[in-house]
Amino acid sequence: MKIGLEIHIALPTRSKLFCACSTSAERPNTAICPICMGFPGSKPMLNKEAVAVALGIANALHCKINERMSFVRKVYFYPDLPKSYQITQLGGSIGETGYLQYDKKRVGIRRVQVEEDPAKIVREGAYTLLDFNRSGMPLVEVVTDPDMRSQEELWGFLRTLRSILYYLGIDIDKEVKADLNVSVAAGQDRVEVKNVTGIKNMVEAAKFEEERQEQLVKEGEPVKQETRGYNEKKRATEAMREKETDEEYGYLYEPDLTVFDISKIRYKNPVYIDEVTHGLAEKYRANERTLKEITMFDSRSLERIERLKDRYRMQSIIHAIQRIKKFGREDISDSDFEKIINLIDSDVEITKYVISEVEKGREVVVKHAKLTEKELEKRVIAYIGENRHLLDDYRKNRKAANLIINDVSKRENLHPKEVSKKVLEILDKAVNGELSI
Ligand SMILES: [Zn+2]
Repeated sequence: MKIGLEIHIALPTRSKLFCACSTSAERPNTAICPICMGFPGSKPMLNKEAVAVALGIANALHCKINERMSFVRKVYFYPDLPKSYQITQLGGSIGETGYLQYDKKRVGIRRVQVEEDPAKIVREGAYTLLDFNRSGMPLVEVVTDPDMRSQEELWGFLRTLRSILYYLGIDIDKEVKADLNVSVAAGQDRVEVKNVTGIKNMVEAAKFEEERQEQLVKEGEPVKQETRGYNEKKRATEAMREKETDEEYGYLYEPDLTVFDISKIRYKNPVYIDEVTHGLAEKYRANERTLKEITMFDSRSLERIERLKDRYRMQSIIHAIQRIKKFGREDISDSDFEKIINLIDSDVEITKYVISEVEKGREVVVKHAKLTEKELEKRVIAYIGENRHLLDDYRKNRKAANLIINDVSKRENLHPKEVSKKVLEILDKAVNGELSI
């Protein structure tokens, strides 16, 4: 199987790509103006913030970045496009011929380009409604080579891309769209699955296409060139209208926008979490998979590790992160986070209660006391002396020791592991008659 993608990523800018309208309006048709409505005589103005984000993506995907870029009009008629063309890029895109690497796999990136989103079509009963809030929203299109050979490789690519984008400040969890090209046989005509929303659906759509096409090949039927859609409810792809090919679109140079010199625009540097965690795991002898798991989509945890890695044991930092994540307490302050690491190093089990005590400045209370062997022995014997029936219980069932271990640990604020050894030792002596309590 071969899979190629055209992914559309919404950019997190405050205003739209060619006008000053807000990108975060909620009520339909409230963030609109003559430019994003495509009124005659209106002129687009390029949003530099969007270009900076797009440059960050092209750079993170190892693309050759062009010094200049320009736009074209992709002409077609559809209700979501009142000016009858979409402003996009063709030759003068932002970046070309890059790649994305994950594990040992490398997927080629053909190009990264900037374009505007058309309006949103909402169908309600017999009506077709249009919301122009979306018209002119900034998008980046990433086009890959058909290099992915399985669903697993597709999943790996999407997950890695999602992490790279996350560290550039772009969350594609909510909405990401892609067109997938899927083919199972060499020389086979191209089948395109359009507008698949969300990473999970993309993998599902590829899986469905693989099975459908393999079945056709098995039956000796041709796999014909076509455009399909993905039906989320049926988890299946379905034939769509015959689509225009690229030659059928009209492309015109966009005369309202000049050629832009983008060589001086500054952008964010990427974080490749695979490389970062590999380096940390080697240097600090930590589990690479765990490190990756806790930092892939969590810049705060990565920042904590980077800041504290030379002052505490890596194991303790990782464990502290896992515990606060478990209780949904990633918001804990940096100084309290360090106190948690210290408690871990003193063998304290980090519970929700312990975290809240730390926040109240009472970490001393939860820290385990340290007793000498003699003192510990005394306390255990005293406890059993007060609860003699436990000795009989222990004779019948050795599990009775757990109750003593728990009680003594709690009462004296001791670590159960240390108490356990002593309790068992004393109980055995007592039942063998070597010790009288
Ligand atoms: Zn506008």
